[in-house]
Amino acid sequence: MKDFLDELDQELDGKTPTPNSDDKKIESVKEEKKQTEQKREWRKITLVLKKDQNKTDNTNSKQNNKKKDNKTYSKNSNGEVRGKFNSNFPETKFYLPSLRKGYTRYMPIWGNNETWAKNMWMIQYWDDIVLIDCGVQFADKDMLWVNYSIPDVSFLTKYKKEIKGMLITHAHLDHIGSLKHVLPALGMPPIYATRFTLGLIRKSLEEAGLIPHATFIEIDASTGDKFKVGSFTVEYFNVNHSVPDCAWIYLESEGGTKMVHTWDFKIDHTPAIDKPADLDRIKAIWDRDISLFLSDSTGSTRKGFSMSEKNVWEELERIVANHKRGRLIIATFSSWISRIQQLVDICEKYDKTIFLSGRSMIENVAIAKELGYLNIKQGIVKKMTPKNTEWIAPHKQIVVTTGSQWEEFSALSRMAEWRHTSVEIIRWDTIIFSSSIVPGNEKSVIGIINKLIKLWARVITKDDWEVHTWGHAFQEEQKIFLELIRPKYFMPIFGDLYFRTVHANTAIWEGFKEENILMLDNGNIVDFAPNNGSVFKSRIKAPIAELVIDGHGMWLANSHVIKAREKMMNAWVLVVSFKVDKKTKAILGHIKLETRGLVYLEEVRFIHRMIIKKSREVYENTVKDVPDMEEKDLVKILRTDLEKFLLHKLDREPMIIPMVTEV
Ligand SMILES: [Zn+2]
Repeated sequence: MKDFLDELDQELDGKTPTPNSDDKKIESVKEEKKQTEQKREWRKITLVLKKDQNKTDNTNSKQNNKKKDNKTYSKNSNGEVRGKFNSNFPETKFYLPSLRKGYTRYMPIWGNNETWAKNMWMIQYWDDIVLIDCGVQFADKDMLWVNYSIPDVSFLTKYKKEIKGMLITHAHLDHIGSLKHVLPALGMPPIYATRFTLGLIRKSLEEAGLIPHATFIEIDASTGDKFKVGSFTVEYFNVNHSVPDCAWIYLESEGGTKMVHTWDFKIDHTPAIDKPADLDRIKAIWDRDISLFLSDSTGSTRKGFSMSEKNVWEELERIVANHKRGRLIIATFSSWISRIQQLVDICEKYDKTIFLSGRSMIENVAIAKELGYLNIKQGIVKKMTPKNTEWIAPHKQIVVTTGSQWEEFSALSRMAEWRHTSVEIIRWDTIIFSSSIVPGNEKSVIGIINKLIKLWARVITKDDWEVHTWGHAFQEEQKIFLELIRPKYFMPIFGDLYFRTVHANTAIWEGFKEENILMLDNGNIVDFAPNNGSVFKSRIKAPIAELVIDGHGMWLANSHVIKAREKMMNAWVLVVSFKVDKKTKAILGHIKLETRGLVYLEEVRFIHRMIIKKSREVYENTVKDVPDMEEKDLVKILRTDLEKFLLHKLDREPMIIPMVTEV
């Protein structure tokens, strides 16, 4: 990956500035030669990407690729694919209830009880299953230091043959981030997505070692072409969002159930890269007599219309044009490619240079450029390195960085703490948060802003000026789509119950009957009768567990390890160590204590003496009553008695670990 990034860097760089020359005009022969070699290397990478892309046009080539790469990527003895990431989902005895003839089934696997988290849905008709999106939930402090959380597809591993395809709406990680775990467990079903979305999926599967086993089917959402996935008829169409090439999905079963499935969307009549929302085409879909419309609830509490990208463009241009002193550092999401294009165009106009900071920022920009979603003239964008910035005046530098959400090791965090190798923030630097705060991250982001202000930097957020807009529809946009689609049933999705309920109320306000609004939790099952008939909600609920990735392992979020972490975060640790005679059970020597976060220095002697006395008393009384008690039972009694004692005496509840060693 490092070579890959270096080559992208060079491709984006053009040339490295020299002390006594204008970096946009002068090139030495040596430099030219170096560039030629770098471009040659870049072409090699491009060829590799194109080779993967060719598979899109011919799914049969999957077999050929497998043969070519079978040394690199493995299958187990059952012929199951194994990537580099953990795909060992726990076993479950749950089977989907039988589906009546002609009925079409819908089930949220994840995404209906939370916002911005590991979205995934299942649709079933007869023996055919299709899945929509497969996201990841980013870890926050509440997730107790696991890496991230993924959707639980344990029950689906029994249905590999029935799964006909994975339909992907857009390239955000909460929609594609778990594919590297889920695809091998489900038999590597073909992936259907638009061009940019496939570009980011390819990168993820390349890291996972799954490219030779993957089947990519590229969809041009602008054409209106329909295609078959199993027995389903599917059509993609474009909508606006915060990442290029975002799509809605029209899906029709042979049973005559017609669904319009949105995930993230908004209406933008003046977007930065994509075309404006095609309302005429969406209106035409209404004529098909839609059975079910599923719609993004993220912005349901916000009144009015979301702001256009054009407003942000104008605001950023005004800031850049008037910026005369210090660096301009812009923190944004690395997948917000239209924002990068806006900045590239502005920088070209005002003779500034963009420096990219953060791994995902550099990778996503490289992929977007390669796929034709970014138009960058040579020399405008460079990688953030001390060498690249050395000879460019600070007010000519625009640093575009990740870290707008506090991510602990992100580039902006390092800048704010003076740990970044290329940027030390000083007085006159201006930091723009061209982003919104993901719910739950507020305190951490404010923490970064505090650090930046302490360094005398100027901070601008979307609350100050129009430097960011949401990627999700507000209430008035939601009303427009409800009016355009006019489905028989409406299901608010993608959001906590609060957001989905507000969205449902908006639909009622628009004249929808309450009984035709479906509110589903993750794992709920609804079956639609043939030809736009009634809907039946099953009493059976699929057991969807909370799964987390922690290091190389996949675990249940309620495992004893996570619970122990939670206890240690909220309490303290006391280890009580006994050495006892194997035959007589008598305590030998002193009882030893180790405590963490329990005892203050001034009280240590008194409290340690008290705990030792009580520990001896509990041990000796227990052994006296039952001399041959098993060690695990003895430890349990010691723990519970000491817990009660410390709660009573100190009003503290440490995690207590008694250890009994027989000698
Ligand atoms: Zn999104």
